[in-house]
Amino acid sequence: MTQRRWRAPLAAVLAAILVPSAAVATPAAAAPAAPVTAAAPAVGPAEQALVRVELPTEAMFDQLVASGADIATRPRVDGNRVRVDVVLTGAELAALTTRGARLVQVVQRAGDGTARYQASARAARGINAADTLHFLQAYWWTSNGQTFLQTQVATTASDDPDVEITVTWRTADGTTGSYELFRFEDADEYQYHVALPQPVPARPVQVTAVSSLGGTARPVTPGAWPGSTPPPLPSGYQKDFIDAYATPVDIQARVRRLGRQYRDLVDVIDLPNRTQGYRRTATAYVGDPAVAAIVVESVKFGDQNVNGIQVRTVDPGRPNSPLSARFRDRVLTVSLATDAAGKTVSTTNEVAALIPARFPDRFTAFVENGSTGLPMPVVGPVTLDDGLTGDAPKRPWTVQALRIGKHRDGSRVGVLAYSQEHAREWATPLVTLEFAERLLVNSRTDPATRELLEQVDIFVIPTVNPDGANYSFADYDFQRKNMVNHCTGTQRDPAFRNAWGVDVNRNYAVGSLFDGYFGASTNCLSGTYAGTAEQSEAESRNVVALAQAHPNIKFALNVHSYGGYFMWPPGAYKVPGRITLPRPSIEEAAYFLTSARRIVGAIASERGTVTWPSQTGPVADVLYSAAGNSADQLYYENGILAWDFEVGNDIWNPATGEWEAVGFQPPFPEAHAEAMEYATGLVELIRVARDYAAAVPVAARS
Ligand SMILES: [Zn+2]
Repeated sequence: MTQRRWRAPLAAVLAAILVPSAAVATPAAAAPAAPVTAAAPAVGPAEQALVRVELPTEAMFDQLVASGADIATRPRVDGNRVRVDVVLTGAELAALTTRGARLVQVVQRAGDGTARYQASARAARGINAADTLHFLQAYWWTSNGQTFLQTQVATTASDDPDVEITVTWRTADGTTGSYELFRFEDADEYQYHVALPQPVPARPVQVTAVSSLGGTARPVTPGAWPGSTPPPLPSGYQKDFIDAYATPVDIQARVRRLGRQYRDLVDVIDLPNRTQGYRRTATAYVGDPAVAAIVVESVKFGDQNVNGIQVRTVDPGRPNSPLSARFRDRVLTVSLATDAAGKTVSTTNEVAALIPARFPDRFTAFVENGSTGLPMPVVGPVTLDDGLTGDAPKRPWTVQALRIGKHRDGSRVGVLAYSQEHAREWATPLVTLEFAERLLVNSRTDPATRELLEQVDIFVIPTVNPDGANYSFADYDFQRKNMVNHCTGTQRDPAFRNAWGVDVNRNYAVGSLFDGYFGASTNCLSGTYAGTAEQSEAESRNVVALAQAHPNIKFALNVHSYGGYFMWPPGAYKVPGRITLPRPSIEEAAYFLTSARRIVGAIASERGTVTWPSQTGPVADVLYSAAGNSADQLYYENGILAWDFEVGNDIWNPATGEWEAVGFQPPFPEAHAEAMEYATGLVELIRVARDYAAAVPVAARS
């Protein structure tokens, strides 16, 4: 090959020395259609190159050395021939060949090295070259007769936001199809490309992926998801103890009944931190908020003999009267100041300052936004009211837990299931109530259930946030937070009453907002308000207190809705950089996943609902960063394997080809179905705990 390759250029060089240099056609100057001229030199006159030349005499070599030429090597050859590798210009080479030297090889031209470096770097980075793709997930499953495929693919061209990835599937009978993935970034960091589960006609036996840069992935055989089914239920196994949405009052009654009905298997635990209760202060606008007004607010809660108190401002009807206030017969009367002509002259600011100064134990007041410094109108009487319309008892609430098991003495591995940290997630206490009652009822008739209660110590908090739940049922169904209002100033305007409260699941102490983690707010009106400090709220302190009081608890499931997720730590990261709480060890991560697949399989056994593989994983990866959430608290602080459900999976609509959301408060039959399937998931968690206990002696548990 080398001989053939170099013969032609050599001929060209020899020809070149016979003609004037101006007539030499460079390769670049040659017309594309014309044959390459024999006069084209191997190295252009001004071009530099490392060449191997054969010199006719030893003397010529000595002259070359004496001239200071850039000689690289002097390879030995037989006989009289003298060969040398030397860096020359084309003109210098031409001069040598004129004197009888022969070009053997152009080893490397100037600029070749730089180009070769850049090419190697481009190839390694996958920029302007084909990228490389990897399947991170490829799973199929069948739900109610329809087979689905879901894939996640990562590209090595992770910094290129325009890369498009197409996945092609093939079934055993040769049918193929393809779909686009979309790029998923989180906290400005590329994660992978993914798509919603795709309906396919049959089990896919192979998937491939190709990118818009030309990169490909090795073909993969999708795995069966979740690849686990629960043990068959005995005939006569009893289910369905849910017939309506349950308010906190209903839940309290159910807990008491179960405690009485199953004395041998149940303790009812009163958690130590009573909540504020379904209560808040009473307020009234005095004046027209659109024109000039102040807000008067009670110091005590509305139910504490405050609702119904009246407030009015009056014109004293005489000149030169001072601003004054009196409280008599449940009426607060503010007499406005007047000038010499008898005209009222008090401002909104003066009246708002006077009321708390005169009655610090009864009232606060502030100037409505936009009313600062305006003349205070004569108005009223108006009535203070807390605006709470429900009939839930208005007193501090004792949150309760059921403790279920034959041996409730800490000798058995403990499992905690808790729900309704978020008030509006009405299906979630149905899950934990169904779970609790299913275990208790079947313990009387089913030996396998009886054995579970022999081996496992189960704790259930059906509603962590009863105050918010009462508000959600009676007053504002989208209420997420608790009823504690930490707002100050004009954020206490009753116009904001549906935005007050603390997000209980952002109020814990691990990976919190206060530690700099992302996914919670300092704004008291935000849906993810973290509170005034870590565990400022009774609701979060109760969960922590229960876990700390029972160190045998090794598993926990925090039940939320909706969306169909099954998640575990880490649940929070810092930005920038997307720095998560410490990842579980490889072994523990594998345990989370294999246990999750068991539980997802159990959920699916009820009505075919399959929690997607893309929604099964660490919270921070599959949902979002939730600073100060309870699962992270229990995992990092108490060493509990702490999962989260988001019950209420999207439902496939074959008519539209869309996945449809169920919402926080679906029509009851859907909530009922969610309770049945996720209670089945919780029962599988009890089996997971039993198997764990059988494998790990109590003393060895960390
Ligand atoms: Zn929630």
